[in-house]
Amino acid sequence: MSKSGLVCPKCGRADAIRKVTSIVSAGTTQYQSVGYGTADIEGETHHVDTLSYGSELTGLANRLSAPRRPGKPSDFGCAAVLLTMRVGMSLVVLVVIGVVSFCSLPLLYESVYRANNWLILVPILIFAGAVIRLLWWIGSNVVREVGTIRHNRLNYPSEVERWERAIERWRELYYCYRDDGIFIPAQTRLIPVEQLRAFLYAPEKKKR
Ligand SMILES: [Zn+2]
Repeated sequence: MSKSGLVCPKCGRADAIRKVTSIVSAGTTQYQSVGYGTADIEGETHHVDTLSYGSELTGLANRLSAPRRPGKPSDFGCAAVLLTMRVGMSLVVLVVIGVVSFCSLPLLYESVYRANNWLILVPILIFAGAVIRLLWWIGSNVVREVGTIRHNRLNYPSEVERWERAIERWRELYYCYRDDGIFIPAQTRLIPVEQLRAFLYAPEKKKR
């Protein structure tokens, strides 16, 4: 299984080592499962067959699996959608306050406003307060979201670069079944599988 002179740095033997890429590809199984269930269609109960597909990694293959490519950051369209939603919600709130104030005017006029003229300012102040509060809410969220998106987009290329280096290193890895550890040829120390991610993402200098 091993090439000339390739041995585990811990046990110094070659009989229990295997390339990590082949463990992972051998440990990936495609499955298809058939199930049986009931469905309620137009008030009647029917029996239906269900079918599902997927792929699964066995325990070791899962522990040794390659790091995932970082997800693409969302674009500014996402922030625009949220902004539109918030403006819509704000308008609904303002319309409700406006309608309630307007409709209560004739009801409250005789009993409240005639005696205390200044009370008519209360609904106006509530409305103005709501406008300010909602504008603040919309504005602060836009600033925060645009900042986050910009930050993620700026960092994305370097994150992908780090991931590419990690994947390159991952492809060189060997695993020793005896010692449950990983190593790269010419490396003098065996790394426990638990430290796989940290090892893959470690700065280049650490490579021996
Ligand atoms: Zn070993």
